[in-house]
Amino acid sequence: MSERNLYNQDHEAFRDTVRRFIQSEITPFHMQWERDGQVPRELWQKAGAAGLLGCSVPEEYGGAGADALFNFVVVEELAAAGVTGPAFAVHNEMVIPYIYAFGTDEQKRRWLPGMVRGEIIGALGMTEPQAGSDVRGIRTRAVRDGGHYVVDGQKTFISNGQLCDVLILACKTDPQDAKGGGISLLIADATTAGFVRGRRLEKIGLKAQDTSELFFENMSVPVSNLLGAEHGGLKLLMKNLAQERLTQAVRSATAIEAMLQWTIDYARERKMFGHTLADFQNTQFKLAELKTEATISRVFTDHCIRLFIDGKLDGNTAAMAKMWVTELHGKVADQCLQLFGGWGYMWEYPIARAYADARITRIAGGSIEVMKQIIGRSLFADSKKDKR
Ligand SMILES: Cc1cc2nc3c(=O)[nH]c(=O)nc-3n(C[C@H](O)[C@H](O)[C@H](O)COP(=O)(O)OP(=O)(O)OC[C@H]3O[C@@H](n4cnc5c(N)ncnc54)[C@H](O)[C@@H]3O)c2cc1C
Repeated sequence: MSERNLYNQDHEAFRDTVRRFIQSEITPFHMQWERDGQVPRELWQKAGAAGLLGCSVPEEYGGAGADALFNFVVVEELAAAGVTGPAFAVHNEMVIPYIYAFGTDEQKRRWLPGMVRGEIIGALGMTEPQAGSDVRGIRTRAVRDGGHYVVDGQKTFISNGQLCDVLILACKTDPQDAKGGGISLLIADATTAGFVRGRRLEKIGLKAQDTSELFFENMSVPVSNLLGAEHGGLKLLMKNLAQERLTQAVRSATAIEAMLQWTIDYARERKMFGHTLADFQNTQFKLAELKTEATISRVFTDHCIRLFIDGKLDGNTAAMAKMWVTELHGKVADQCLQLFGGWGYMWEYPIARAYADARITRIAGGSIEVMKQIIGRSLFADSKKDKR
């Protein structure tokens, strides 16, 4: 990999801390958590104590006030270790940013300190059984009744669904508003009556990550828990999706490098026909191609991180990063697994788990097709402007 120049000594010292935390608190237990279908709540508190959660939350709200690069270090180190159970990124890169960017001072004081400590676990509730890519199609209703909203509906595929204490919940507050979506975001406290957890869903990958159904039955949420403006939720979702997509691209770029390294190590050791697997031209050519593409993906994602830090990352560029790097993620997982032969198909091998985990990256947080739609539309919007 060409030299990276994003991170300074403080970030690298933090990286060592994160790496050690993963080695001692996550990797030895991850296979058991895969069988359990989720990570234990105590892990979150340990991660909070070690400084892995909400790194960039300002001190007045309980955080370290560090720059956002510290959060990316956490994303990268989890991906490098191939441990996909702890959904810290949902908490750090999706839920906290909503509360921090759009919340009132009171909302920030109520939720953020506990989230930094890992005592309050966050989740994001957008997807419903009938509406994933089509966010405007959600049906969960929030009807204003004096000082409260009464919420009825359901969500599915929610990461941290079983563990969460707080949920950023997308609801319809104005079903007639077709253009703006009529969507509001509510901060739902999971202890509220009518907040009901459904099944933890069985998945083909991300086995240690809790992905669940949630139901809302006559759930009363105070109007003071509204995030941003009433009916203005779609705009907030669009603003934060770029960060979510960049996070996925960074996670994939790192997972790609890890898979390549495991494969290079394996090819060096594996003997056959009086040679090693690494001696075959096919192996070298395959790995040469993948290494080149991995390097391109790293350079591009680093560029996008820099844009993000400077407040200049737009939705189209984030969509390009997610589209290109997650496509590559799937390809690298498949081609590296091939080089492991039958061992690559065995769950005990990290490459097998990485292969299963890679598949979702082209779907969740905006599918490949949706990314293409975003990028494609922007091209024609630009050309119309050019003609004027
Ligand atoms: C493991 C996992 C974790 C998740 N975590 C969360 C979470 O924490 N919170 C949350 O809210 N959601 C979460 N999701 C949901 C995820 O974001 C959705 O699955 C995703 O947005 C796709 O929606 P969908 O599944 O309804 O598929 P659909 O929207 O029904 O898509 C079906 C197919 O149609 C294609 N399609 C869609 N639009 C277009 C188009 N314009 N042109 C062409 N083709 C199109 C899609 O690409 C896809 O191939 C998670 C999902 C999984 C599997």
